[in-house]
Amino acid sequence: MLVFKFGGASVRDSYGVKNLLNIVNRFSDDLIIVVSAFGKITNALEEVLKLSLKETEECNSKFEALKTYHINIINDLFPDKRNLIYKEIEDEFSKLNTILFNEKYDSYDLKYDQVVSFGEIFSTKIVSAFLNTAQLSNKWIDIRKVFVTDETFREAKIDMRLTLNKAEDSFSFKNDKVYLTQGFIGGSKNGLVTTLGREGSDYTAAVLANLLNAEKVIVWKDVDGILNADPRYFNEAEKLDKISYQEAVELAYFGAKVIHPKTLKPLHNKNIPLCVRSFINPEGEGTEVDCFKQYDQDLPIYTLKKDQMLISLFPKDLSFVMEDELSKIFKYLSEHRIRVNLIQNSAISFSLCIDNANAKAKQLVERFKEDYKVLYNDQLELLTIRHYSDDAIKKVTKGRKIYIEQRSRHTSHFVIR
Ligand code: ASP
Ligand code: MG
Repeated sequence: MLVFKFGGASVRDSYGVKNLLNIVNRFSDDLIIVVSAFGKITNALEEVLKLSLKETEECNSKFEALKTYHINIINDLFPDKRNLIYKEIEDEFSKLNTILFNEKYDSYDLKYDQVVSFGEIFSTKIVSAFLNTAQLSNKWIDIRKVFVTDETFREAKIDMRLTLNKAEDSFSFKNDKVYLTQGFIGGSKNGLVTTLGREGSDYTAAVLANLLNAEKVIVWKDVDGILNADPRYFNEAEKLDKISYQEAVELAYFGAKVIHPKTLKPLHNKNIPLCVRSFINPEGEGTEVDCFKQYDQDLPIYTLKKDQMLISLFPKDLSFVMEDELSKIFKYLSEHRIRVNLIQNSAISFSLCIDNANAKAKQLVERFKEDYKVLYNDQLELLTIRHYSDDAIKKVTKGRKIYIEQRSRHTSHFVIR
């Protein structure tokens, strides 16, 4: 059995949905197909939600635009206007309307999940119905009733034990060969909808593969596979044919956008390979991530994290930065969920490099000023090169100002401007 995942970019219009059909038709395996919301619909739902809370007029037009987007796709895919999908989507939109405008929720995060999860409901209903009319018979599964999660809305944790039984029942492959379901969403024991964190559909595919012992997961992307560098920032990016789970985790952690970092653990635990392949060029072999490490060093791998802030702390009285000081610092960071991408210390200073993309970074600086002399720089970049060579480093740091440089056996990091 294989698990496929199609992200928003692969199904942003009716052409994408037809392409999905063509890809799936190339395989004769038992299959679970996990689909995200169409295109940028998750962002659009976030926006409608925000506007609905402000009770502005614009909200209605954004809601209508969202609806039109889906209706246009349906019109293209289903020439027969009697197809039940027209009514089904109409009904889902009226449910969404009620949640947005007529229901009260205790918290923003709770309402967020009830609203934003509709993206995946719309897309999977449409794709499933389309495949069925094209003789690719498949069963639509409501993953909100399979993935049992806690109620940490927007970041819900899956209860693997409770989910296992439900997954085995729902995806039994007794009478069906192909199942189609939603990425990114789940449901709590109390019947509330939850989401697993933005870009979480890869993770859904990985968890299903783990629970049901799939042979392989294939994630269909708009790139040929995992590249050794982000082509937006580096020239000469090359495809990696094979890498290990460990290498892929390093890549994802330090900024490669192709795979969601949470995806690898459930696969690694059961030794299930992950393939990243192109939906534009489905003949291509893509990249295979598995347990073998022998190819990891074939190419240097470059990742870049933008918008970094480098903060250096100096104790006011020149005392050493001791363990108890460090533990105070890390306690604060963990309480405020601030992720540290790199640290460096000397006898009398401690530096950390963090994402600067939110207000937390500024608050952190203010907080540190109470105890330390603080220096900081923002708008920096964190460049990581795995399997580096002097040449590789020279090529990408040329002309850049280097604030911090660290090298270990396989990895080098540069905080640069
Ligand atoms: N639709 C969700 C998002 O855009 C989940 C996903 O695409 O993986 O975040
Ligand atoms: Mg998406």
